[in-house]
Amino acid sequence: MPKFIPGICLTLALAFSLPGACAEYLPTAERVIDGVYAIVGPLGQRSPENDGLNATFGFVVTPTGVILVDSGASQRGAEKLARAIRAVTSQPVRWVINTGSQDHRWLGNAYFAAQGAQIIALRRTAATQAEFAGQQMQALERLLGQRLQGTEPLPAGTLQDGDEATLQLGGETLMLRYTDAHFPGDALVILPKHGVVFTGDLVFVDRLLGVLPMSSVARAQRAFRTLEALKPAHVVPGHGRVCDLARAKRETGDYYDFLVETIGAAAKAMEPMDEVLTRHANLPAFRHLENYDGLHRANMNRTFTEFEAQ
Ligand SMILES: [Zn+2]
Repeated sequence: MPKFIPGICLTLALAFSLPGACAEYLPTAERVIDGVYAIVGPLGQRSPENDGLNATFGFVVTPTGVILVDSGASQRGAEKLARAIRAVTSQPVRWVINTGSQDHRWLGNAYFAAQGAQIIALRRTAATQAEFAGQQMQALERLLGQRLQGTEPLPAGTLQDGDEATLQLGGETLMLRYTDAHFPGDALVILPKHGVVFTGDLVFVDRLLGVLPMSSVARAQRAFRTLEALKPAHVVPGHGRVCDLARAKRETGDYYDFLVETIGAAAKAMEPMDEVLTRHANLPAFRHLENYDGLHRANMNRTFTEFEAQ
């Protein structure tokens, strides 16, 4: 489980006028299989206490260095990820693969590049990183305050053309596959020999996924089918704890199906949106997930808009 240090609370509270109790989040690595680890961040919003690490990250230890999947949302977040990695291996991070263009996937790139790591992504992922950098830094400034200091957006520099790429790093084979679902530029990282998939923001576990204005639920449903066809033994989601495919399906895949097959279908049939959203406000299969109350209606609304336009 993540560790929290109450000691920093007072300093943070004074610096950022935070009300009530708070605690700094310090990431720890947990073993998925031998040599493959996940770092599971908190499920809530980006905050000064979590340095924007409100997501799940992963890394692979090879005989010649560490392959990190996603670099965190800030310089400080990246430093914390590096510390969590050092607690399990003395190997340096030699490669960083970005599964996407949302802040927590890549804004720590500059930190690892300065330590000598190569930053790898699909070319289209790097393009959306560059496109959204300014907007993300502004949003993070509001959420992280002074703790964003030192963060320099650095889009991935080692680029793979097309929608799929196979990488050989430190004797490991990794495959990158474009999903373009939750956020433009999203991708999966597959470790075919080990049955592990780092899904990026395609899969949310423990918390309800968010449909953003730039998400595509139709593409997400298709990408989830691709994930299912891979039959991974271990799913390292974009948010939440490591799980098996069945759980990823229950908490994410089934929700994409609901959105497409129920809300999307109602939109195509030109039913009145408000009535549709109210009828499906209470879903027993998903309401136990964190952030359900805050996100579910907006998710249906955005899905409706996506399918209405088709
Ligand atoms: Zn995310």
